[in-house]
Parts: sequence; C-alpha cells; structure tokens
Amino acid sequence: MTDPYYSKVAVVGAGTMGNGIAQVFASTGSEVLLIDLDAAALDRGVGAIEKSLGRMVKKEKLSQADADATLSRVGRATSLAEATVQDLIVEAVVERPEVKAAVFAELDRVAKPEAILATNTSSISITQIAASTQRPDQVIGMHFMNPVPIMKLVEVIRGHETSDATTKAVMECSAALGKVPVEANDFPGFVSNRVLMPMINEAIFCLMEGVADRDGIDTVMKLGMAHPLGPLSLADLIGLDVCLNILEVLHAGLGEDKYRPCPLLRRMVAAGHLGRKSGRGFYEYES
Ligand code: NAD
Repeated sequence: MTDPYYSKVAVVGAGTMGNGIAQVFASTGSEVLLIDLDAAALDRGVGAIEKSLGRMVKKEKLSQADADATLSRVGRATSLAEATVQDLIVEAVVERPEVKAAVFAELDRVAKPEAILATNTSSISITQIAASTQRPDQVIGMHFMNPVPIMKLVEVIRGHETSDATTKAVMECSAALGKVPVEANDFPGFVSNRVLMPMINEAIFCLMEGVADRDGIDTVMKLGMAHPLGPLSLADLIGLDVCLNILEVLHAGLGEDKYRPCPLLRRMVAAGHLGRKSGRGFYEYES
C-alpha cells in the first residue's frame, strides 16, 4: 500500500453510499471517521464494510490481515462536531436540499479552514450547497457510483465558485483511490443522470404506450446496445422514487418537456412500488 492521498478523511452518512465511500478510503490507508446521527445506521454501515471486506477475502482478492487493518481504520461518531481534523469531508446523507444545507453549514463551522467539503449528491446543485458555507471555493461534488468499492467512476463536479486547487486535489485524490475521475460542471443531473434518466424515462414511456413489454424493452437494450442491465431493471435497482426525484430536478432545472417524468413512473411511486427496496417495481423481488 502506498501513502494515502489524505491521511484523515471524514464521511458523513453511513448508508448505502457512505459506507462504501468509507471503505474505499480506508482501503487505501486513510483514517476514516464515519459519522451518522443515527447510531443504528452507523452500526449497519460498519457491518456492511465488514461484510464487503469479508467477500473480498473469500474471493482471495484481499488478505484477512489487510481486511482487519482496513476495518481498524474506520472510526465512528454520531456528531458532526467531531469532524475537526480531517483534510477532506465527504457528505453522503439523504438527498434533501435542506438537510444538506444544514450539514454543510455545520461542517463549515467545525472543520479546519483548509478542509475540502465534498458532496456525493446525485442531483442537488453544488453551487446551492456551497452557498450555505463561508468557503464555496472549497466545496465540490464527488459523485461516486453504487456499489462504490466496485464502480470505477467518480464524477467530480465544480460549483460556480469551486477553485482550481480544490478541483485538482479531488481529481488527484479520486485517482489515488483507484477510481477514474471525470470533471463536470454544475448543471442539473451533471452528466451521469442527465443522460441516464431520460433513457430510463423513455423506456417507461415505451412500456406505458405498449411499444413492447417489460422483458422486450430490457432485452433490446441489453443485447442490442450491450448494456449490462436493461433500463427497467436498472430503474428498479436505483429506486423508482429516486428516478422520479431526479427527473423532477432535470425538468425544473432545464425546463424542457423532454425531461417530463412518465405518468406511469409517478403512478408506481404513488403506489409504493419503488423497485428492489420495496420488493416490487417493474419486476418482483423476494425480500
Ligand atoms: P441512505 O438513505 O442509504 O443513507 C443516508 C444516511 O444519512 C442514513 O444512514 C441517515 O441516517 C444519514 N443521515 C441523514 N441525515 C443526516 C445528518 N444530518 N447527519 C448525518 N447523517 C445523516 O442514502 P444513500 O443511498 O447512501 O445516498 C446518500 C447520498 O448519495 C444522496 O445524496 C444520494 O443522492 C447519493 N447517491 C446515491 C446513490 C445510490 O445508488 N444510492 C448513488 C450515487 C449518489
């Protein structure tokens, strides 16, 4: 293992993304403080890291000693007030603008002045998040993909005031994690969701209009376009509520009809059919 890019990092939010982000930093030698207000979520997050490392040991991709050392670098806290000594803090709390604003305002108060504050948001404006701090030049998007330990991409998003130095550091840090960073500017949905979500939405329109059935649509995109998952299956994996939310952001932010969420998507979300996480979306899942 080489020296980590940052020796001390904090990750705020220990959910799906936060625990994966903490794992990749700890794997490259950083001391990671994982923070979640909910102690049970923190336990689940650390448990998920342990399981993920265990799978890597089983597949002989990692030694037990390295897995143990990685896990020992993950500390826990239930208060943002402990994020005082880190060089980089990555936020991965729920996708709600008012929650992110409150977290960033508090991090700005407690973090050391030179610390970079990054957000893993999928769709909220980086510029808007940065505006709740006194250091908008040190706020940036660091958009990891799910599952974080496996997916190579980090979309690095510059807000209106993000400095060149902050961008350079986060690009280099992402590369040091073994990821491939791509720089993007702060427009609704960045690149990833601006391209992905209209495709998913169009697949749902095709289903609603009877262009083809569910399996037909997914098979066309898998076998015809070499996508590993069909768009309906992928929507179930992401969560239909999350897809709807991002489409609303694209529609409101870009103001064009082509981003209008499909009525069938709205109806499924209203019915609580959210995809894998609720056991039913376009497909059915055993719990
Ligand atoms: P999640 O619901 O699994 O986890 C969120 C965690 O944040 C929870 O454990 C919750 O207790 C914690 N939390 C809530 N408010 C908090 C606060 N004020 N302080 C500290 N912790 C708090 O969410 P997730 O799926 O991991 O998503 C996190 C972020 O990552 C979101 O912005 C989401 O848009 C983005 N994202 C998600 C995915 C994905 O596939 N899930 C992919 C890319 C980006």
